Amino acid sequence: MKALADMVQVALPLPIDQLFTYRVPPAFQGLAQPGCRVLVPFGTRRLTGVVVPVDPPESPPTSLKPILDVLDAEPVLTEELLDLTRWMADYYLCSWGEVIRAALPPGLEVESQQRLYLAQQPLKELHGRAAEILRFVTAHPGTTIQHLRQTLGRIPYALLHRLRAKGYLRIEEALSAPRVQIKTERHVRFTPAYQAPAARAQLQHLLRGIRQRTLVEALEAFQLEGKSEPAQRDLLARAGATAATLRRLVALGVLEIVEKEVIRSPLEDEPPPPSPPQYSFHPEQAAALERIEAAINAQRFEAFLLHGVTGSGKTEVYIAALKQVRAQGRTGIVLVPEIALTPQTVRRFRAHFGDEVAVLHSRMSDGERYDTWRQLRAGRYPIVIGPRSAVLAPLSNLGLLVVDEEHERSYKQFDPAPRYHARDVAVYRARHNQAVCILGSATPSLESYANARSGKYTLLEMRRRAPTVGQQPARLPTIRIIDLRHTRLQEGSPLSPPLARAIAERLERGEQVILLQNRRGFAPVLECTHCGWAPHCPHCSVTLTYHKVHHQLRCHYCGYATGRPTLCPQCDQPTLLPLGAGTQRVEEALTMHFPEARILRMDLDTTRAKRAHHRLLDRFGRGEADILIGTQMVAKGLDFARVTLVGVVNADVGLLLPDFRAEEHTFQLLMQVAGRAGRADRPGEVLLQTRNPNHRIFRYLLRHDFAGLARELLAERRQLGYPPYARLAITECSGPDEARVQEQLQTWTAQFRTLLAQTPGNHCVEVLGPGPALHERLQGRYRYQTLIKVARQPEAPALQPLLRQALEATGPLPQGYRLTLDIDPAGLV
Ligand code: ADP
Ligand code: ZN
Ligand code: ZN
Repeated sequence: MKALADMVQVALPLPIDQLFTYRVPPAFQGLAQPGCRVLVPFGTRRLTGVVVPVDPPESPPTSLKPILDVLDAEPVLTEELLDLTRWMADYYLCSWGEVIRAALPPGLEVESQQRLYLAQQPLKELHGRAAEILRFVTAHPGTTIQHLRQTLGRIPYALLHRLRAKGYLRIEEALSAPRVQIKTERHVRFTPAYQAPAARAQLQHLLRGIRQRTLVEALEAFQLEGKSEPAQRDLLARAGATAATLRRLVALGVLEIVEKEVIRSPLEDEPPPPSPPQYSFHPEQAAALERIEAAINAQRFEAFLLHGVTGSGKTEVYIAALKQVRAQGRTGIVLVPEIALTPQTVRRFRAHFGDEVAVLHSRMSDGERYDTWRQLRAGRYPIVIGPRSAVLAPLSNLGLLVVDEEHERSYKQFDPAPRYHARDVAVYRARHNQAVCILGSATPSLESYANARSGKYTLLEMRRRAPTVGQQPARLPTIRIIDLRHTRLQEGSPLSPPLARAIAERLERGEQVILLQNRRGFAPVLECTHCGWAPHCPHCSVTLTYHKVHHQLRCHYCGYATGRPTLCPQCDQPTLLPLGAGTQRVEEALTMHFPEARILRMDLDTTRAKRAHHRLLDRFGRGEADILIGTQMVAKGLDFARVTLVGVVNADVGLLLPDFRAEEHTFQLLMQVAGRAGRADRPGEVLLQTRNPNHRIFRYLLRHDFAGLARELLAERRQLGYPPYARLAITECSGPDEARVQEQLQTWTAQFRTLLAQTPGNHCVEVLGPGPALHERLQGRYRYQTLIKVARQPEAPALQPLLRQALEATGPLPQGYRLTLDIDPAGLV
C-alpha cells in the first residue's frame, strides 16, 4: 500500500458531490496540509481546490494526477471551519467544495482560462460570425472566450473549434492570477548608515542641490513626528519633490524603499465612533442579560430567542453580552440582514468596541473583502458584523453568535449553492464551539418560536420599549386600518384621503414620514379591486397563482388547478386584477399631492451604487427630507426620532402571496415598519391601506399581539403539515426545453418514490409533483418542481440520504439541464 502522505483528498468548487484524489509529488510533501488551497488538473482545466482531512481511498486508481501547486503556506481554513463546511455540505446536499467557496472571499481562485490567438489569416475572405471573431482576435491577441462573448454576444464553442480545426485560431490554456491580491504601498526610510541623526551630518557633503536637501529635511520632519517610514506619496507631497530626486537619493545609498502591505477597509473614511450612551438597563433587559451571562460565564452552548418589541433595547443586550465574551478573550459574530447593515448599526457597535469591529457586506470591493477576511483569520479583529455569509467568518475562539432580526428571509441563501440558512448554521456553529447564540426579533420566525416554546431555545421576552425619554418607556405606535373598498381614491392615486391628510399634518409640524410600498416576491395573484376577494386553494390555505399560458389558477403546494373566473364570485364585478399593479406610481402621486415636500425614494434602483443606501439614510436622518418612500428596505432597523407616521400603501401585496408563510411574513413586515414610528418623545401613528380589513392579522397587529397570532398560525401549520411540524425540500429541474425538463424531473421523482417505497417510516413522507414552478420560466429556462414534505415524527426517515440516492440513481443530466435541491426552502419561487 502507498504511504498516505503521497495522496490527498481535494474538495473542488463544482456541483459534483464527491472528493477527488490527487498524488502529492515529493516537492510538495508536508506542504499540502488540510485546509490549504492547491492547484490541480481537472479534465482539460486547472482548478483551485482545498485539501480536506479525509483519508484517501484504500485502493486508488493507479494513474493519479499530481497536484500542480500548493497555494498557501498555512491553511486558509481552520479545522473548525472544515468541520462546519462539511456538515453544511451534508445537510444542504451540495458539494463540500461549493461550501468552501462560500467560506472564502471571492476572487481567490486561480483558474485556467482559454486564450485565443490568430494562427493564420484565412486565404479566402470569411463572412459573418467567423469573420467578426477573427477580426476581434487579431485586434486583441490573447483575449479570453469570456471577453469575446461579452463583446460579440453569444458564440457557440463549436464555431471556435471549427476555426481552430481549419488552422485559423490557436486556443491556449493559460492560468489567470487570482482576482484579489495583497496590495502594497511604497514607503521611504533612511538606510541603516544614516538612520542616526549624528550620521546625517556628513550628508551635507553628499547632497547636491536644494531639491535633495528638501527631501531629506522632509523625511527628518516625519521622523520627528514619530513616523520614520512615511509613504512615498506623502513624503514627495510634503517636500514638493519628484520621484526622480528620490531615485537619486536611493542610488546614493541615503534612502531606501520598503514595500508595505496596505489594508483596504470600508471603515477607512468613517468618522470616529461617538462615545456610547450611558444608561442603566431596564428590568426586562437586566433579566435577559442575566440569563445570557450565566451561559457565557459557564462557557457552555445555549441558544436564546430574545423576543423583544421594536425599540425594547435588544441591540444593547447584544452589546453587553459581547462585552462579557470579550472579557474572556473570546470573539463574536453579529449577523444582521443586509438591508439593516446601516451606518447606524455599525456606529453603535463601534462606539463600544472601536477598532475591534470589522464589517463585511456585499457592497465591498473584492480587495476590501479579501483584506478584512485575512485580518479576521489573523485574529486582528475579534468582532465581525455582517450579513448571512459572515456566519462563515474565520474567527477562532468564538464565544457568541448573534442573529439580529432572525426571522428575516435574507438569511436563507438561494443561488448559488450552498442554499444554507445562516440562522441554523449559527446555532450549529455555536454548539460546536461551546458558545452562546442569541436570536433576536420583535416578530420571531414560527420555527424559532416553536423551538423556544418546546425548550430547545431559551425564551427571553421584553414587552416594553426602552425608556428613551425620562423614566417612561416610549409608547408603541397606534395602528389604524384604512379600508380601500370604502374609500374613494382619486383617479389613479394610490393614496387614500385619510393617508394624504395624515401626511399633510406631519409636513406642517415638521415631522417625518416613512411610506412602505411592498413589492417583495411579486407574484401573479389576482385580487378583486372592488371587494378584496382573492382566489385561495381549498386545501392549502394559500392563494392560487394565475398562469396566463393555460388560463388557469394553480396551487403550488398541492397542484390543485381551476379556471380563471371572469367575474368576482363574491361581488359579481369584472374587477379581478393582478395584485399590486400601479404601486410604482406612489412617488409620482406624492409629488402631485405635496409639491413642496422633499421626498427620498429607496428601492433597488436607487441603491445600486456603493454606499447609496447609506447616503440616503444619512440624509433622511439629518432631516434633509420629509418623506422616505421605499420597499421593505425602509422597514428595518431604522431609528429616527422625528418619524411619527408610517404609511403602508397596500398591505395586501404580501398577504396574498402564494406562500404558506404569507401571513407570518406580512405580520412581521408590518410590525417592523410600524416600529419605525414614534421611537422617541413624539407618539407614532401607523396607517395601513387594505382591501381585506377583516383579515385576522390586522386584529393581532392592532394589539401588537405576536404571541396570539403565532399560536393560531402554529395550530394551523400542525394541522396542514407545514414547518415547523414538517420538513420541506424542493427538487427543481430547469432547462431550455419544457418537455425535457418535465421528463427529467419525472425520472428523478420516480426514483425517489421507488426508494421511498422500500424505506421504513415512509408514511411520514409526501411527494407532490412534478409541477410547474411559481415562475414557470426564468431567464429563458423552464422550471419544474417536486415538493417533498416530511412530518416531524420520530419514525420519519432521514431525508438527505434518500434525496442523495435518488440523485445518484438519476445519473447525469443532458447538457444545459440542471437538478437543484433546496432544503428548508424559504418559500416558493
Ligand atoms: P431594538 O434593538 O430592540 O430595536 P435598541 O437597542 O435599538 O432596540 O434600543 C432602542 C432605543 O432605546 C435606542 O435608541 C437605545 O439607545 C435606547 N435604549 C436601549 N436601552 C435603553 C435603556 N436601558 N435606557 C434608555 N435607553 C435605552
Ligand atoms: Zn369582488
Ligand atoms: Zn393546494
